[in-house]
Amino acid sequence: MIRVGQGVDVHPFNEDRPLILGGVKISDRGGLTGHSDADAVLHALTDAILGAIGAGDIGHYFPSDDERWRGAESSIFVREAMRLLQAMDAELSNVDITIIAQKPKLAPHREAMVKSIAEMLGVSEGHVNVKATTTDHLGFLGRAEGICAMAIVAIESGGPVTLN
Ligand code: MG
Repeated sequence: MIRVGQGVDVHPFNEDRPLILGGVKISDRGGLTGHSDADAVLHALTDAILGAIGAGDIGHYFPSDDERWRGAESSIFVREAMRLLQAMDAELSNVDITIIAQKPKLAPHREAMVKSIAEMLGVSEGHVNVKATTTDHLGFLGRAEGICAMAIVAIESGGPVTLN
């Protein structure tokens, strides 16, 4: 049985924080605001995995008012979602991610993000794709007020996925 899940996340820019996307430090400044490390890519990916296994959303497991996750590395969230997926005897088929950002240029970091994400998912790099685009200056993303990430995950499971 094939199942899919999607995830979307947006964070506003915060000039004083490092920019971390897909578990990769892109720059020391020009980062994103958020309770954790604000890695919008990994948050969207976590929600996509949780969506595929019918397990709710990232906020259910990692509430943004929980002090434990202040400044946390978002790979923790991805790894927990993968642990739940594996506990259901499901297997990840592929991940496709789109980052919408007017700035900075992300193409030079694409390979590093693929490698980082594949490593935290425990799959080979051929299962992971990362794309980046802009809105041609339209809207809040086009005005470079923040970054949006979208993720789709496909999984294969032996039967109906059930929690608990
Ligand atoms: Mg988020």
